Amino acid sequence: MSSFPAEGPRVLADDEPLLWDLLPAAQQPDWRDHAAYRPTRRALLQAAPPVLFPETAELHRSLAEVAAGGAWLLQVGDCAESLAEQTPGHLAARLAVLDALGDRLADRTGGRVVRVGRIGGQFAKPRSAPTELHGGVELPVFRGHLVNSEEPTPEARRHDPRRMLLAHRAGARVCEQLRRIRRERAGTDAGRPAAGPWASHEALVVDYEGPLVRPAPGGGEYLASTHLPWVGERTRQPDAAHVELLAAVRNPVACKVGPTASPADVLALCRRLDPERTPGRLTLILRFGRAEVDRVMPDLVDAVRRAGHPVVWTTDPMHGNTVRAAGGLKTRHLRAIAEEAAAFRRVLERRGRHAGGLHLETAATDVTECLGGNVRTEASLTDRYQTLCDPRLNPEQANELIDLLYPA
Ligand code: PEP
Ligand code: MN
Repeated sequence: MSSFPAEGPRVLADDEPLLWDLLPAAQQPDWRDHAAYRPTRRALLQAAPPVLFPETAELHRSLAEVAAGGAWLLQVGDCAESLAEQTPGHLAARLAVLDALGDRLADRTGGRVVRVGRIGGQFAKPRSAPTELHGGVELPVFRGHLVNSEEPTPEARRHDPRRMLLAHRAGARVCEQLRRIRRERAGTDAGRPAAGPWASHEALVVDYEGPLVRPAPGGGEYLASTHLPWVGERTRQPDAAHVELLAAVRNPVACKVGPTASPADVLALCRRLDPERTPGRLTLILRFGRAEVDRVMPDLVDAVRRAGHPVVWTTDPMHGNTVRAAGGLKTRHLRAIAEEAAAFRRVLERRGRHAGGLHLETAATDVTECLGGNVRTEASLTDRYQTLCDPRLNPEQANELIDLLYPA
């Protein structure tokens, strides 16, 4: 087994596993028998790194400022990015929304806002069931454009490893564009690490992320698929592939935490992902649901504080507040989202901690997927319900959320 090659491009035999291939991993595609699997893996092992190590280190320094209470983190984007929405125009629209929301949050908090997109690689989705019914036919579920297509046919839903190369190419282009923008902005903030835009996604598909773990200058390794990878609520089991992969790399990393996590579970994650207690290394993204925050969060915050992990506390007030509308569509109420984010802030501020991070699924266009603000009735959800996966706020709803949290 070759797990951590010391340096240089990876030249592994076709069937030689990376460390993470040998660990249990939930939510993985079923494609290892596909004829294209081995050639694709070989191509990924040799593919150019979308992000560079010094970039991840720069974001790490910015997140250390957030952990210390001197800045905010705003993480925004689609639930699932589309490979069909990768034109420069799409990218510009998404970055404009990230920046407008970042500027508003900066204006309201009076602080600097580190801007991170769910962008450049958010192509893989964990799902609650492996199949679904379409007109009486049972089909594999859509798992994100890294794995299959949302079209409801057996061919389109087949897991296709060649999609990893499409995702890599799209991600590399986006990260190149982000780099160009950060360069243009350098100098406006001389002497400080860039506030963004940075890329992030859920590091879910081990066959994709594993080959993009690369040597870091100065020792160790980093994950070159994104600046800020996170492990999701469904794959945060200790000793499994996802947590071990993030534990092994030097990027700043994040972990979602849902209402079933005990303080002991979270401490185990902190020990594994932030063993040196490094400011900015670990972002905890809490996604409890508004009814659970006050029950679950205080003990958890106290435990992490006592253990001395200088984490970036972030709220994802969306994933615990998903409901079905009368017509069957998945939706979320802006009021519930705002209440969870406000409760998160209250719990931390009562303890003298910084409620620094806000994580929102937000579209770049005027979609009608969540209720509240300019989407007034359940009937209007169908007007522009366009998400590939979870319901997103539209930009106006996201603005309203910031106004509710931080009134002018
Ligand atoms: C997501 O962020 O889209 C997601 C699946 O979240 P979670 O892991 O918190 O359920
Ligand atoms: Mn989602």
